[in-house]
Amino acid sequence: MLYNSTRGGETGRTASQAILEGLSRDGGLFMPEELPKLDKGLRELSGLSYQELAYEVMKEFLTDFTEEELRHCINSAYDSKFDTPAIAPLVKKDNAYFLELFHGKTIAFKDMALSILPYLMVTSARKNHVEDKIVILTATSGDTGKAAMAGFQDVPGTEIIVFYPKDGVSRFQELQMRTQQGDNTHVAAIIGNFDDAQTGVKQIFGDQNFAKELKEHGCVLSSANSINIGRLVPQVVYYVYAYCQMLAQGEITEGEEINVCVPTGNFGNILAAYFAKHMGVPIARLLCASNENRVLTDFFGSGTYDKNREFILTSSPSMDILVSSNLERLIYLSTGRNAEECRDLMQSLYTTGKYQITDAMKQFIADFYGGSATEEQVFATIRTLKDRTGYVIDPHTAVAKTVYDRYLAETGDARKTVIASTASPFKFAPAVMEALGQKDEKSDVFMVIDDLSRISGVSEPKAIQDVRTADIRHNTVCEIPKMENTIRDFLF
Ligand SMILES: *Cc1c(COP(=O)(O)O)cnc(C)c1O
Repeated sequence: MLYNSTRGGETGRTASQAILEGLSRDGGLFMPEELPKLDKGLRELSGLSYQELAYEVMKEFLTDFTEEELRHCINSAYDSKFDTPAIAPLVKKDNAYFLELFHGKTIAFKDMALSILPYLMVTSARKNHVEDKIVILTATSGDTGKAAMAGFQDVPGTEIIVFYPKDGVSRFQELQMRTQQGDNTHVAAIIGNFDDAQTGVKQIFGDQNFAKELKEHGCVLSSANSINIGRLVPQVVYYVYAYCQMLAQGEITEGEEINVCVPTGNFGNILAAYFAKHMGVPIARLLCASNENRVLTDFFGSGTYDKNREFILTSSPSMDILVSSNLERLIYLSTGRNAEECRDLMQSLYTTGKYQITDAMKQFIADFYGGSATEEQVFATIRTLKDRTGYVIDPHTAVAKTVYDRYLAETGDARKTVIASTASPFKFAPAVMEALGQKDEKSDVFMVIDDLSRISGVSEPKAIQDVRTADIRHNTVCEIPKMENTIRDFLF
């Protein structure tokens, strides 16, 4: 399996090369030359552990990894770092199946991919005789940064640098990042929003002079953002796993179609579901749920992607995004893998902030349904679900639940639906408490967490305890034009 850039500038990369490079040098994203199929039936796969299933899925994409290498990566990642042997349990509540993706080290779904990416990367470096230190450069809207640092902490031969928007993440997320341990971890708050951070990081990746300067210092840049194919591939696994769990538990019969509903920001998680569909999981519709930053909802409705609008800070900050990078991969597929057409659309996005797709492309993506939720609706959903079932969800997951409820009312589509549950409610305790009608003005976020624990009857995850007792280690603040300087300060 080889990988090509969505913009045509690079072709024929192996999986390990694509993982090392992260973003293609032409600014495009790496795509496998075809979407592979599972080589075993879902019934057979439903007897496997998460780790065994991960191997069956990932081996189809990462074909230049040996079985031993890949199993080593998988087994190192999905171990007791997760607080349940199921790794991604499926919980049936109300009218939906919540796929809990928050049982890793940082209690959000990005752990699913970022706990394995460092192993994939170190293995890829060895395979490609890379001697330089790998410098992971990441822009985060809150969760990626911490999850990436937790994954890369003290991994030999790597440094990790994280930029986050100073006022664009939750207090707890900021604490999580600023208390991060490890001699190779670096964090800076930028004065700007997430899109500024992401654009800044993309520009640094495209700066050839800076790359040369780094090389002179024995460093090479790579990305842990969800544009890295090494992030996307591990995420395909849990959609296959969800279907297998439903099959094993007798919730569905073999071949029965399901829907998935994904709270979406950068479009990585839902794209992984789309890949799972193409691998052979009977997924009918992909419900793309947005918060008040509803660029994607409008896009799926109209065929026009337009980021020229106000950027809104919501209670689901990891979805406060106006440029969903991974959408480029779907656009590329919808052009029939026409890199030139894809490049032109992305160029238009860069220069005018928008682009429009053709009717044929619209037809191609018709399996997607876009919906959005207001802050008020999100809070009502959290409260109603708790009242009805006792189950407490976080604001990101609640965006998805809101959109699913509306979809169900609109369409009456009776297919069973998996909702990607992307964060523990404890990670967003103040918003969740407010939603439950217990607005908590306590200035100490940990006291709010204690209150949530009492109200929900769920004890706090270990990840919370760890942050509670840790010292602040990172204090850097940086202006957007100074990002390269900050990197120099960190590395040289
Ligand atoms: C990152 C994140 C999302 C959005 O996922 P994408 O892959 O960027 O679409 C949703 N919820 C949480 C909690 C996240 O951390």
